[in-house]
Amino acid sequence: MVALDGPAGTGKSTVAKRLAMALDARYLDTGSMYRAIAVAVLRAGVDPTDEVKVGEVADNAKLVVGTDPEKPGIVLDGDDVSVEIRGPEVTLAVSPVSAARHVRELLVAQQRAIIADAVDTVGGIVVEGRDIGTVVSPDAPLKVYLTASADARAARRTKQDNAAGRESTVDAVLADVRRRDTYDSSRAVSPLKAADDAVELDNTDLDLAGTVGALLDLVES
Ligand code: C5P
Repeated sequence: MVALDGPAGTGKSTVAKRLAMALDARYLDTGSMYRAIAVAVLRAGVDPTDEVKVGEVADNAKLVVGTDPEKPGIVLDGDDVSVEIRGPEVTLAVSPVSAARHVRELLVAQQRAIIADAVDTVGGIVVEGRDIGTVVSPDAPLKVYLTASADARAARRTKQDNAAGRESTVDAVLADVRRRDTYDSSRAVSPLKAADDAVELDNTDLDLAGTVGALLDLVES
């Protein structure tokens, strides 16, 4: 198993999927699970900062998470929300939703079950998120903390958004990346941080192939 953590916009999802394909492994995007709960919260008309109501929504939400790196997909209450989870309202709501303790308890338990289902070797599953090496799988055989400068991350996210038909500008994305980094790193429960035994990889000057290559070297070392 590979635990891949880091802030928004490092290209973590694309890198994790490519790595899983190269290893013939499964892939788990834990951010998509927090985003799907944020969709459920918005659909229920609940304030994303109301921790009690958000917890109730999470209790009643049924998530089915795909682990095929070529076509991961996520289903909420029978509805494929793979596209909806990337929308700007969801991106705004997901930080407070993911800071709710009960939401994290539910999703971490589900994530551990999915991981246990995959073969527990380095090649078994690539899991990406914010707390995989610190909370979800502290015993993961390989932990990588992926970072890049905020400017590089904002530029990549903007390109990704525009390619997917979502209009955005580097300035707006940079503000969003900084807002989420601050929120995710300063929350009381499972704050974003590198595990003590994680390998830190700064990919500011690496492209996708270079980043995947560096990770494959780590898996093989
Ligand atoms: O990875 P992605 O940007 O889709 O994650 C969306 C949000 O979900 C993050 O900004 C963070 O607030 C939350 N998250 C988390 N723990 C994880 C994965 C994501 O708190 N393991």
